Amino acid sequence: MFDLIILGGGLAGASLAVALRDTPLSIALVEAVPPVCASGWDPRIYTISPANARFLGDIGVWEHLEASRIAPIETMEVAGDKGGRLCFSAAETGVPELGWVLESSRIACELWENLKRQRNLTRFCPARPQHLDFSEAAANLTLADGQALSARLIVGADGRDSWVRGAAGLEALGTPYHEQGVVANFATEKPHGNSARQWFRNDGVLAWLPLPDQRVSIVWATPDAQAAELLALPETGLAERVAAAGGHALGALKTLTPAAAFPLRLIRVPRLVAHRIALVGDAGHGIHPLSGHGVNLGFQDARVLAERLRTAPEWQDIGEEAFLRRYQRDRREEILFLQTATDALRRLFRAPSAPLAGLRNAGFSLTDKLTPLKTWLARYAIGAAL
Ligand SMILES: Cc1cc2nc3c(=O)[nH]c(=O)nc-3n(C[C@H](O)[C@H](O)[C@H](O)COP(=O)(O)OP(=O)(O)OC[C@H]3O[C@@H](n4cnc5c(N)ncnc54)[C@H](O)[C@@H]3O)c2cc1C
Repeated sequence: MFDLIILGGGLAGASLAVALRDTPLSIALVEAVPPVCASGWDPRIYTISPANARFLGDIGVWEHLEASRIAPIETMEVAGDKGGRLCFSAAETGVPELGWVLESSRIACELWENLKRQRNLTRFCPARPQHLDFSEAAANLTLADGQALSARLIVGADGRDSWVRGAAGLEALGTPYHEQGVVANFATEKPHGNSARQWFRNDGVLAWLPLPDQRVSIVWATPDAQAAELLALPETGLAERVAAAGGHALGALKTLTPAAAFPLRLIRVPRLVAHRIALVGDAGHGIHPLSGHGVNLGFQDARVLAERLRTAPEWQDIGEEAFLRRYQRDRREEILFLQTATDALRRLFRAPSAPLAGLRNAGFSLTDKLTPLKTWLARYAIGAAL
């Protein structure tokens, strides 16, 4: 019998496991596919908030990431579709940088290096779950190869289509955006100056994130039909299209990695916990990528749950729902706020009405002039206000 089964070794599940390294808890980690560290540049890039860089530092991961593969974000320029502008800078916000840009596979591989050395953890990988049931004292998981695992608590860290969530009967309300997040990396003609750039366009939200040297990674959240069009373009056509959409802000672009696309969905999960179960990461929330908060929320879930488990008194049954509800209470507000804010922002910019277009752009420009509001927004966005 384990204390904890974590199903899913993505960034949320793996960081939770590593954060529990120095505890007496015995942990089983079940994962279908271990991460692969690509030698080239990974098109899957994340902006990591300073709060989560701190979390990754606290669990001994950040300092082992290769510094030459990480770019700081020192300024951020957001442009509306009718001339509205909002600029954030680290200096104005009173922090050394607004965030960091990192490749997903680099973080995942470093987390897994830690997992391999973790003495209180047993890895089941590659492995898939087949059946889950709950008794008064345990969560009982049967794997597809017939192995039976039991624990006082099972954590669903298995992404937005979470098998654990479904098997436990926890409700998830999914709303497709009918958009895809198109990602690709480019070399730029001009230096990016460690600035992240974002355009709210009538064909979606386009972000250019700085990578080390003269490279950027893009996330273009755009309707399904346009995403299909972008994916079908040859490399030069794609680079020209992306450069033009960003007003040639960095001169000509050259495609470094072919485009890939991820379907986007808002997923609201009313309950993150139940008897002997808790959800972390995308298993507990799906959010539009326009604010770059998805994995940042997942890391904070892992940090908060790990803290609860680490500080639980010895007599505490960690699978007891009343105990787990404190984790849910701690996370609910931030998740709800960010889901609602990003969803509203996206709707506002997708609305074709001319008066609305003027209003939303004026809102951007006005916010740009209101220093306290802007500083609050920037500090919230980078996790410094959390
Ligand atoms: C285009 C795009 C851009 C994004 N950009 C950003 C960004 O800049 N910043 C940011 O913070 N977030 C961003 N996100 C969101 C981010 O990708 C997710 O929030 C994050 O990957 C979720 O991590 P996770 O560990 O919760 O889930 P996942 O990454 O989905 O990991 C789940 C893990 O569980 C395993 N698993 C699943 N089912 C099973 C099973 N049945 N058996 C065994 N194992 C299983 C999977 O193999 C996987 O390893 C973006 C998302 C998209 C689509």
